[in-house]
Amino acid sequence: MNDTSHTPAIEIVGMSKWFGSFHVLEDIDLKVKQGERIVVCGPSGSGKSTMIRCINGLEDFQRGRIVVHGQELRQRARALDDVRKKVGMVFQQFNLFPHLTVLENCTLAQRWVHKVPGSVAIDIAMQQLEKVRIPEQAQKYPGQLSGGQQQRVAIARSLCLRPSIMLFDEPTSSLDPEMVREVLDTMADLARDGMTIICVTHEMGFARGIADRIVFMDQGRIVEQAPPAEFFDAPREERTQRFLEQVV
Ligand code: ADP
Ligand code: MG
Repeated sequence: MNDTSHTPAIEIVGMSKWFGSFHVLEDIDLKVKQGERIVVCGPSGSGKSTMIRCINGLEDFQRGRIVVHGQELRQRARALDDVRKKVGMVFQQFNLFPHLTVLENCTLAQRWVHKVPGSVAIDIAMQQLEKVRIPEQAQKYPGQLSGGQQQRVAIARSLCLRPSIMLFDEPTSSLDPEMVREVLDTMADLARDGMTIICVTHEMGFARGIADRIVFMDQGRIVEQAPPAEFFDAPREERTQRFLEQVV
C-alpha cells in the first residue's frame, strides 16, 4: 500500500505559463521517473530555466498541473513547502553566502529550516563535502575557493537538505573551462547514486554519458524528447537538427 516506487518523481501535464501577455511555456508535458536523469537543452530564451523553476515553485504557472512525488503543486499551498524540501536546486551562479565559511554555508538551512541540531548538521555537512571531494575546504570562505570548488559547495549545500530530486540550471556555464570537468564529475556521481536529476546544460558529452533522456525545448515548447543515442544520431525535428549543428 505504501509502495511509492512507481509514483513518478515529477509529472507535468498541459502546463502553460505567461509573463504578462508573453506565453513563455506552452502546453508542457513531461513525466520523470524516480532515479531518471533528464538533460534539458535548447536555444537561449526557449524557457528552460522557467520550466525548472516552476518545478520547485520558484515560479507560478497559469494552466495545467505539476505533481512532485504525488503532491500537486499549487502556489501558496502547503504542498509547496513540502515540495521545496524534496527538490534541491543549483544555479549557474553559486549563490553561496560570502561571509560564511563553507561549513556554515552547508549547515545554515539544515539548522534553521529543518531544525537539525548543530552537531548533527555539521556531521551531515562534512559527509556531503566529502561526497563532492572538498572536505579540506570546510573552514574557508567562498571567496578563497575556485569557481569549480564553489559550485561543488553549492551542490553539497543542497544535498545537506536530503533532496530526492536535484535540479541544475546550467551549473557549469559560468566556470572557466578547466573547472567544468570536476562539476560534471560530481553530478555524474550523483547520477550513479540513483538521484533523480533534471539538468539544463549545453555540455552534450555529459548529456550523452549520463542522461536517460534528452528534452529539447524551443520557443516555450518541448519539441522533441528521446534517449541520447536517438537524440544525437537521429533527431527527428528540423529545429533539433539545427540546434545540434550549433552545439555539438
Ligand atoms: P532559457 O533558460 O531557455 O534561456 P528562460 O526561461 O530564462 O529561457 O526565459 C524564457 C523567456 O522568458 C525569455 O524570452 C525571457 O526573456 C523571458 N523571461 C524570463 N523571465 C522573465 C520574467 N521574470 N519576466 C518576463 N519575461 C521573462
Ligand atoms: Mg536559462
